[in-house]
Amino acid sequence: MRLLIMGPPGAGKGTQAEMICSEFGITHISTGDLFRLNLAQGTALGQEAKKYMDAGEYVPDSVTNGMVRARLNDADAKAGFLLDGYPRTVAQVAELDGMLGATPLDRVLELTADTEEVVKRLIVRANEQGRSDDTTEVIRRRLELYAEQTAPLTALYKSRGLLVQVDGLGSIAEVTARISDALKS
Ligand code: AMP
Repeated sequence: MRLLIMGPPGAGKGTQAEMICSEFGITHISTGDLFRLNLAQGTALGQEAKKYMDAGEYVPDSVTNGMVRARLNDADAKAGFLLDGYPRTVAQVAELDGMLGATPLDRVLELTADTEEVVKRLIVRANEQGRSDDTTEVIRRRLELYAEQTAPLTALYKSRGLLVQVDGLGSIAEVTARISDALKS
């Protein structure tokens, strides 16, 4: 199974992605996590990405696309995966289409959430995890970019008949149950 999870920052994508991956036995591929891993390991890619992440901007495609292509070629992605955080732009959709070739995505899951609620969640997360891209100003910029560049992707995937929308508000267990039902139907 090849899935994509979408939703604004703070909608709970990362948490739900872990649940979906363990339920369906597929690999979680999060571009944000890959950038943070590179940063922790001190790679050149991580240093480059940090400049953009700290400002809430998108990392350039010249860095991002190659990283995703390499990750999709890893052995653990062969049996299925859940992409989380990629694609984020129409241009990245085209790149991904090229990478997937004759075996495209099976479903695109959109977690919907109210802006006020996601801002609240992100501020709590900033305090808990100390992420340098969770300051109020950067949070605002990330939500703005999502609305401008990433939200339009849902219409694109809807037109392909792939979109499944799930309400992201509620307890983790409630949202997981909704997603599970939606993916099995
Ligand atoms: P996330 O953990 O998904 O919220 O991603 C954290 C940050 O990583 C984003 O704010 C971007 O700076 C960067 N990032 C993650 N995925 C992408 C992507 N597909 N394209 C560009 N930048 C990305």
